[in-house]
Amino acid sequence: MELDNLYQEVILDHYKNPQNKKLATNYDAQVHHVNPSCGDEIDLNLTITDGVVANISWDGVGCSISQASVSILTDLLIGKPISEAYSIFDQFVSLMQSKGSIPGDESVLEDAIALAGVSKYPARIKCALLGWMAFKDASVQAQAKSELG
Ligand code: ZN
Repeated sequence: MELDNLYQEVILDHYKNPQNKKLATNYDAQVHHVNPSCGDEIDLNLTITDGVVANISWDGVGCSISQASVSILTDLLIGKPISEAYSIFDQFVSLMQSKGSIPGDESVLEDAIALAGVSKYPARIKCALLGWMAFKDASVQAQAKSELG
């Protein structure tokens, strides 16, 4: 897989120095997602407070793409209103499904733009999306819980 060198550095930096990789003991929702085709696994704990992504913490094993992607996600989404987090989520998923046809908006996606090149490698897209799908799953559970009460 050939990715732009600068982007490769961003991915390796997150892989070597993962952000928020220590499961919080307090959370609204906890999910475990796996990507069997590559052997990637993550646990993700999410707290949503007053409609804002208050905390995302995680632990996991797997390839550099999967682990870097979830680290990037936590940096990007913690502190964002859930509606904005979903908008960023949608843009990232569109980018991953673009087969390299769209460049992505760096002002929105920040470090996640480094994963743009992955969209040209169908076998790796699930690696990049693993943490994002876990976040979406956890957010639905956390919001259902807060509506119940
Ligand atoms: Zn992987």
